[in-house]
Amino acid sequence: SPEPALDFRTIDLRGRSLGLAELRALVPRLEAEQGAAVEDAVRGIIADVRSGGFAALSMFAEKFDGVAQRHPRVPAEAIDHALESVDPSVRAALEESIRRARLFAEAQRPADVTVRPGDGATVTQRWVPVRRVGLYVPGGLAVYPSSVIMNVIPAQAAGVGSIALASPPQRDNGGLPHPTILAAAALLGIDEVYAIGGAQAVVTFAYGIPAAEDGEGPLPLIEPADVVTGPGNIFVATAKRLVKGIVGIDAEAGPTEIAILADCTARPEFVAADLISQAEHDTRAGSVLVTDSPELIEAVRAQLLEQAEVTKHRERVLTALSGRQSGAVLVDDVDAGVAVCDAYAAEHLEVMTADAAGVATRIRNAGAIFVGDYSPVSLGDYTAGSNHVLPTSGTAAFSSGLNVATFLKAVQIIDYSEAALDAVARHIRSLSDAEDLPGHGDAVDRRFEERAFDPRP
Ligand code: NAD
Repeated sequence: SPEPALDFRTIDLRGRSLGLAELRALVPRLEAEQGAAVEDAVRGIIADVRSGGFAALSMFAEKFDGVAQRHPRVPAEAIDHALESVDPSVRAALEESIRRARLFAEAQRPADVTVRPGDGATVTQRWVPVRRVGLYVPGGLAVYPSSVIMNVIPAQAAGVGSIALASPPQRDNGGLPHPTILAAAALLGIDEVYAIGGAQAVVTFAYGIPAAEDGEGPLPLIEPADVVTGPGNIFVATAKRLVKGIVGIDAEAGPTEIAILADCTARPEFVAADLISQAEHDTRAGSVLVTDSPELIEAVRAQLLEQAEVTKHRERVLTALSGRQSGAVLVDDVDAGVAVCDAYAAEHLEVMTADAAGVATRIRNAGAIFVGDYSPVSLGDYTAGSNHVLPTSGTAAFSSGLNVATFLKAVQIIDYSEAALDAVARHIRSLSDAEDLPGHGDAVDRRFEERAFDPRP
């Protein structure tokens, strides 16, 4: 393949007044045709796993991950062993991110509420955790022990009783997930772990896999989950979108994106370093600079060239920065930049302007907002306390990063006394007649007729 060069394009929107639909079409994003081809591939994987069960999982482990697999369950001893063998500095870092993430997650638990709309009447909203969750932890181009923490902590804070984890089998770990992923699971007390990658893992949790037999003996079932969460590449994100409705999902947390809203006060070397830090995730990652300063764009481009040259994943970074999903957007002023950022709805948005905190309050659409020169996305990826599983590809306009509420649902409880129902009976009669559903009104009126002619002794 040809040596990748840096082609970080500029989209000049100065002097144009554009509506939301036009802005959405102009901001850097992957082409739709790519998404359509991936969707076809993922539909095939869903069908194969549903019909083929464990045999299909083995086939995909061989095909995509290069490992032979009979059953994907990770033995308990392997999880214990991973914790015993983990590097002490990595263990300390995992423990600190667990501490900070737990602090934030536990503070998010919403309170139940009860109101009294009338005498003898209560209506309550009670938050209940879902029964079982399936959490995905990526491990293709890179491995993500941090994502174990980001998935598990809010599920535990919500009180979910049954938590299962899946991550791709690694050829150099005997077909098990990466040892640091297993160590992170052990630190959090998770013992149901599967070596399954990509879309296959999402389908497994959405539908479950029935128990089976092969020549060597029984293959124990995998129970379906009620909610599937976690980040992943475009195959994982597409699979989640396609099974949504069969199960709950968090958000489409696909290939990472960073947008940086900056003015002439921003430090080009920080801006470039942060654009590169997300580009190293995936050749499909998006790195976008939104600014009113043409000088900043030139300085950042020079820094990108310099820093990308010496970064470890140089090729991947240059490919991502040069893709249709990356580039600089030149605007008239910071206000126009805010409008572009809202239209783009980045997974991660950094604000590096003179009044960064003030500008951040004016942003509506972003998975997470990082304020000022000392809150880089890398901090949020690992140790801030915030969650790094965040909505991508514009879905931040209507969905949220992973949090405790992802694993909770609200049950409404209605408790009226006889007098309390009597007090509103005529309103129910009026509305049920107005909707031409008189049986509704009858159900109420019957209670008061029967009081007069109660057949009970
Ligand atoms: P991954 O675990 O997401 O994907 C690896 C799996 O992809 C493989 O096991 C395989 O099953 C599947 N796969 C690979 N090629 C395939 C093909 N051609 N057809 C079907 N399936 C195929 O790991 P990754 O690839 O390293 O990606 C991790 C992703 O997670 C990155 O894109 C990163 O940006 C993203 N991420 C997102 C967030 C977020 O919150 N949005 C957070 C962290 C990471």
